[in-house]
Amino acid sequence: MSDSPTNHGSDFIRSRIRQDIDAEVVPAGGVTTRFPPEPNGYLHIGHAKSICLNFGVAEEFGGVTYLRFDDTNPEKESDAYVQAIMADVRWLGFDWGDRLTHASDYFPQLYDFAVELIRNNDAYVDSLTAEQMREYRGTLTEPGRDSPYRGRSVEENLDLFARMKAGEFADGAHVLRAKIDMASPNINLRDPALYRIRHVTHQRTGDDWVIYPTYDFTHCICDALEGITHSLCTLEFEDHRPLYDWVLDRINVNFHPPQIEFSRLGLEYTVMSKRLLNQLVRDGHVRGWDDPRMPTIAGLRRRGVTPAAIRDFCSRIGVTKQDNRVEMELLEFCVRADLEKTAPRGMAVLEPLKVTINNYAEAGGETLSGPWHAQNEALGERAIPFSGTLFIERSDFEEVPPPKYKRLSPGEMVRLRYAYIIRCDEVVKDADGEVVELKVTYFPDSKSGSDTSGLKPKGVIHWVDAEASLPREVRNFERLFNVPAPTADGFLSQINQASVEVMTARIEPAIAASDETRFQFERVGYFVKDAEETGVFNRTVSLRDSYKPGGGK
Ligand code: ATP
Ligand code: MG
Repeated sequence: MSDSPTNHGSDFIRSRIRQDIDAEVVPAGGVTTRFPPEPNGYLHIGHAKSICLNFGVAEEFGGVTYLRFDDTNPEKESDAYVQAIMADVRWLGFDWGDRLTHASDYFPQLYDFAVELIRNNDAYVDSLTAEQMREYRGTLTEPGRDSPYRGRSVEENLDLFARMKAGEFADGAHVLRAKIDMASPNINLRDPALYRIRHVTHQRTGDDWVIYPTYDFTHCICDALEGITHSLCTLEFEDHRPLYDWVLDRINVNFHPPQIEFSRLGLEYTVMSKRLLNQLVRDGHVRGWDDPRMPTIAGLRRRGVTPAAIRDFCSRIGVTKQDNRVEMELLEFCVRADLEKTAPRGMAVLEPLKVTINNYAEAGGETLSGPWHAQNEALGERAIPFSGTLFIERSDFEEVPPPKYKRLSPGEMVRLRYAYIIRCDEVVKDADGEVVELKVTYFPDSKSGSDTSGLKPKGVIHWVDAEASLPREVRNFERLFNVPAPTADGFLSQINQASVEVMTARIEPAIAASDETRFQFERVGYFVKDAEETGVFNRTVSLRDSYKPGGGK
């Protein structure tokens, strides 16, 4: 991808790959990585980190990347998730070409490798109940004990495993386990399960299988079969690496990828585990996986975040072995930095206050014009209707202005963006004393671009024409959680109950008519036309940009 940000190229994974190329362990151009999602939910921004890393390094070194669905858990997985994941990876700007695979593509080979382990006396069929197995496993401080079935003969194991596959046994009756070491200080090596009986229909293989391989057994073998030169995964798999290596050392496969771990991305004010995200969706705390408040790729997209901003974010957070939670402000910074250059700018008034120009005499008004983006001429110009009745932002008027106030107040002047200078002459209030209208004078010779008035108003405010502007629903999103680090057991009570504020704004007609979807509403923020509901704008991010990456707030 040509427009991807160049990565720093100096993180420990890239250094390692460069080393492997120099040492001719991998041929240049032969770097092969994979992104292995489980299709049991939507991708989130943490996955984006892994996607950018796997596709990014392969691209930088002229290699390739597999998109491999880790579909060994049929109860929780579905084709709908598969489709959503593919759409999200593509939207992020990455291409797996014809390297789309599934762990289930390898079920027959995986079975053969399991038989090979049994033949070599490296695996056995255990018949303890799940509960007994837990008891025998021991604890972090106590070694486990050998199962009474551990000494079964190779013949008996082969026979039982074949019958497990043939569907002769109920779920849980038997488990195929690796024969490693029940006293190992690493619990992952205490004879881990390789195959379990599950009479469940699989979304791709249907009812062909009633035994399913475990993640640990499957993943290393798929990596080897695909010739993955660098198997990049998150730190929680560090303790599984000895098992990854153990399996590959004992089967007849002529490739042994190195597993290299990096830290997961955590982000403040949100949760990232699919289990918790699923719960938010299922219990109706959000409107779906693509709710604009969700940290999912689909949610960020609907929120108006661009793929370039997500890639920039992933490149800025870098790749290390330190677990941390990144500030939400960094993501917002990247979103602003991208939209600032690319989003056309128009005017919208979120809380309209009526303004009547006493001396405006043009019947039917006039049409002014302004650039869509003053620094990006390629975006062109738009027509801006103007007449004697306008709306300005309620917050741009103060009856008793604070010192150095640069907006409108009684007797003071202000410039209307791309239009004229006005002076506030009269404040109209309703019975409750609430300001409902301003009566103003405008100066016909103060038109933007041909101002000969000599007047010097203190500020410039945005506005829309009352008649020509359109009412649109605007949704202002706040953080989904009240605390920076929501906890797995308390996150539901940490939900921010005020995470959406809905208002009816008045927008410039050119914004509604434009094919563009993302806009800067001048002086207000960045907004996107909602992809599902017409007439709705989602606030992507506010304009505030005091955040300096690396330099605090
Ligand atoms: P979750 O905890 O959200 O269920 P998972 O690891 O079970 O995540 P997978 O679909 O198995 O989800 O993840 C696919 C890949 O994405 C894995 O290689 C995993 O390490 C990586 N990944 C998942 N979450 C993160 C994260 N927060 N930061 C970086 N990489 C991640
Ligand atoms: Mg996983």
